[in-house]
Amino acid sequence: MGILSASQINSFLSAAFNIDVCIRTDCFLSCIGLIILIVKDSLFFEEIVSFIPKNNKLLLNFVIFAFVEWSKKNKLIAFGAVFALILFFWILSEVRHYRWVHGVIENHPVRIYDVNYLKEFNDLNQAQLDIAQVVGVPPVANRDEAGRMKKKLVEIEDNDVYVIDNLTHSIPFLTPAAAELLQRIGRNFQDSLSSKGLNPNKMIVTSVLRTQDDVARLRKSGNINAAEKSTHCHATTFDIAYARFQAVPDLKGRPYEPVPPEQLKAVLGQVLRDLRKEGLCYVKYEKKQACFHITSRKLKSY
Ligand SMILES: [Zn+2]
Repeated sequence: MGILSASQINSFLSAAFNIDVCIRTDCFLSCIGLIILIVKDSLFFEEIVSFIPKNNKLLLNFVIFAFVEWSKKNKLIAFGAVFALILFFWILSEVRHYRWVHGVIENHPVRIYDVNYLKEFNDLNQAQLDIAQVVGVPPVANRDEAGRMKKKLVEIEDNDVYVIDNLTHSIPFLTPAAAELLQRIGRNFQDSLSSKGLNPNKMIVTSVLRTQDDVARLRKSGNINAAEKSTHCHATTFDIAYARFQAVPDLKGRPYEPVPPEQLKAVLGQVLRDLRKEGLCYVKYEKKQACFHITSRKLKSY
């Protein structure tokens, strides 16, 4: 890497051990040469360079100078320290090299089809509202009221197939049937990712039940229509982001290769298309909010 030339090393060692030309120096240099030969394919040098403070040659020179001065009096310890340092960097580089080659769990995508989102998911708001008014609950005042409706509403929480976003205009409550649908979408999504050779990711739920308090706040912000005539007021509806997903970082320390968002979106789209065809839900592709707006059509759990 050109940090130290052979002559520099030689003069360094001469200074360190106060020996001009001697067998010990040659032996030492041979040892270093041998180790370099062994590790030349590894990340050995990158490892050392990463430890050198950037743009701080003064500090580096000082450390080397101090070490040389010190080593004059402690030759054997200095020899051991240099050797230990080289060994340390070598082991470190080998460990990282091993993780890089063997550790990352790669994606091997198969059977990922294009979905025409706008065409496939275009269920009108009126149709969604009609069914929501039948299978959902009447508008709920606030979170306390929702919490008291034990049999009609269930509170949803982060789990192994989805996470709930920071909700600003809704609370995490759904009818039991809608909660079950959400869980089923999440489970099918995980299964599909696995069978299509993609690493696991969780869906992000971005909007759930809109209370009358939320509607009032939305009205203040001038968004009256969207707030009052929304299926979100009936606990039958939830939004799932299609541009953001939460990647599972690793499997017992082995890192997962990230999955491109458009592939995750396509897999989620295929899952929703199947469930929609089964008559379980309505789906609207919301380009503005970058989400799928999904309304459960079932009255009871299935
Ligand atoms: Zn929505």
